[in-house]
Amino acid sequence: MGLLDAKVSNRNVLVTSVDNVMNWARLSSLWPMGFGLACCAIEMMATNASNYDLERFGIFPRSSPRQSDLMIVAGTVTMKMAERVVTLYEQMPEPRYVLSMGSCSNCGGPYWDHGYHVLKGVDRVIPVDVYVPGCPPRPEALIGGLMKIQELIRMEGLGISREEALKKLAEKSVDAQQVLDQTRKAAIA
Ligand code: SF4
Repeated sequence: MGLLDAKVSNRNVLVTSVDNVMNWARLSSLWPMGFGLACCAIEMMATNASNYDLERFGIFPRSSPRQSDLMIVAGTVTMKMAERVVTLYEQMPEPRYVLSMGSCSNCGGPYWDHGYHVLKGVDRVIPVDVYVPGCPPRPEALIGGLMKIQELIRMEGLGISREEALKKLAEKSVDAQQVLDQTRKAAIA
């Protein structure tokens, strides 16, 4: 037995790739930018409060776009504000991610028909990786969306682009109706 083998046999050894370590480090220290646009932002703030304790996932808001890797668009994006959202997005370093939270940000929400001043989806001005539905989505839904972003980061790698990772993520999507049916069946049994 060589010197190296002797050392290895006495300790636990972790074998992985640089890709995996890098992705694990990135997904375990997500820094969303701390800004909100309307009522959805109140749910976002609640998610960061002690009841839900986002820090246990390594997610902690930052006050500057220059140190943030995730933008949570929480609330109504008016035409006037859209310009600021784009400026903030451009100030973020790569790799950066965007989560759209709530109907307003996803598609204009209740302002779809008559809100001439509201953008019908923030994805018209910046690329969105994960959409969280609801008006407003509860903190649990936002946490679910954040976990999707973490899953996306885990899938990305030297050989896999963001687009390919997003496609794989969509294939893994949960069928909400199926989950409900299963829960009902389990409750009856
Ligand atoms: S989706 Fe609903 S809760 Fe969220 S900002 Fe729009 S109106 Fe407010």
